[in-house]
Amino acid sequence: MHTAGVDLGGTKVQGVIVGHDGAKLGEARGKTPVEGGPAAVVAEIAGVVKAAAKSAKVPVGKLAGVGIGSPGRVDPDTGDLYGAANLPGFGQPVPLGALVAGALGVKRVVVGNDVVVATLAEHRLGAGRGFDDLLVVFAGSGVGGALVLGGKLHAGAHGAAGEIGHVVVVDGGELCPCGRRGCMEAYAGRVALERAARAAAATGRPTELLAIQQRLRRPRMSSGVWKAALDAGDPLAHELIDRAVEALGAAIASAVNLVDVQAVLIGGGLGDKLGEPFVRRIETAMIPHLFLPPAQLVVRLGELGDYAGAMGAALLLSGDGQAGARR
Ligand SMILES: [Zn+2]
Repeated sequence: MHTAGVDLGGTKVQGVIVGHDGAKLGEARGKTPVEGGPAAVVAEIAGVVKAAAKSAKVPVGKLAGVGIGSPGRVDPDTGDLYGAANLPGFGQPVPLGALVAGALGVKRVVVGNDVVVATLAEHRLGAGRGFDDLLVVFAGSGVGGALVLGGKLHAGAHGAAGEIGHVVVVDGGELCPCGRRGCMEAYAGRVALERAARAAAATGRPTELLAIQQRLRRPRMSSGVWKAALDAGDPLAHELIDRAVEALGAAIASAVNLVDVQAVLIGGGLGDKLGEPFVRRIETAMIPHLFLPPAQLVVRLGELGDYAGAMGAALLLSGDGQAGARR
């Protein structure tokens, strides 16, 4: 039995074909349309699934189903997607599952939250294997997270558990993209990091960040831009990433104190790009805040990187795909 998994992101659509044993048999990638609304997004998803199926030499008609990981909240009963405001024309609820099922002629399409499905993938197939109590933190444009407790994804009373980016690390601190103050994401999310870098540059702080962004032709200060600036010894980049590491350390340690997990995984664009040294620095920043001895906690880089979302979306189709009902 083969299933397709699709990670629908703000900039790209990543698709994989997964075999019954969880092995990745094929893949394809497309760009998230910036206009054309849900119809264009559905067409792109269908195209990526077809291309991935072709690369796996599996006819689309033989797929057991398609799983989709998407930003926003998914109604578990209808498969409607809410609040994926960074996708074009998704300001209103979109029946994404039904639309993709129609476009591909596939009976079963399951939609889940992107962070939740990526966590499912790391837990079942990646660096979280073997841990029943696990916190996964994705540091990217924002900072998301999810919890596995007792071997199961913990959704919380309203499906919003794991929002570690909005744990407060500085009371009355920097403005977070969520509109509140002092959240960890206000220091460690890429949107906030870029805002801080531009504000500092505007006051005359010397930095190569903007020049590097231009050279790499990135519309935003991507994780690759930060990596290049750190490697070049840019003092502002170091100062802001130091601050991000401290915020991540404080928030993650506080979360660990509350729920007492066995392991913490760090993923997301920043985690993947800055890699092992970044994770070791976060681990060090956690130590002064941890209630239990640090030796009792495993802190690791996620293993599936860019594929976590698509692989986890494919897992939504397997019998234990409980994440489909979250958010
Ligand atoms: Zn916030």
